[in-house]
Amino acid sequence: MINILIVEDEKPISDLLRLSLKKAGYVCHCVYDGLAAADAVEKEEYDLILLDVMLPGISGFELMDYLREQGAPVIFITAKNAVSDRVKGLKMGAEDYIVKPFEVLELLARVEGVLRRHGKLATVLHVGGLDINTETMQVSRDGENISLTRKEYGILLLFAQNPGIVLNKSTIYERVWGGEYPDSTRTVELHVQRLKKKVGWNDCLKVVFTMGYRLEV
Ligand code: CA
Repeated sequence: MINILIVEDEKPISDLLRLSLKKAGYVCHCVYDGLAAADAVEKEEYDLILLDVMLPGISGFELMDYLREQGAPVIFITAKNAVSDRVKGLKMGAEDYIVKPFEVLELLARVEGVLRRHGKLATVLHVGGLDINTETMQVSRDGENISLTRKEYGILLLFAQNPGIVLNKSTIYERVWGGEYPDSTRTVELHVQRLKKKVGWNDCLKVVFTMGYRLEV
């Protein structure tokens, strides 16, 4: 669970930040001025702080020193055209900045980038009853390790990252084996069959007739 503090006095922007981040699975707490932000970090530990520069009472810059002592990485939210603000923010130790108005996708990418740099993003995917550690490439079910070949792991990850999406054989081949799909081969079918059995996906990895396969979880 990633805990994010949003310090932004403009309610519509604060709401947009909160809703976008909540949708992406983050837990958010909103405060609307500098003092409340200082109180919040005293009471609770945050994994990330989104900090507006122009705040009533204490500015984001004034707050920065205080927040930095608490150890959470900070992303500044700055107004359009305020280039000096961005430079100043980064110099003060902020990890990144977002310019208003921002695109939700950009916001999520920046948040994810900072969390990743700080080792706060889980590298374990939980899909179809499996735990897939994308760093160690270890796969387990109920704590029991499942040993897979490199190709099987590649196919598994492809499905795990694209649940509900039909992946055709040529896509699987190109992504896992590399190179163009040779029409005459049954390699993909055989690998998928074996993979399903090994990881217990017989019921959820479905054949989509003439098209390919889809993971239904
Ligand atoms: Ca503001």
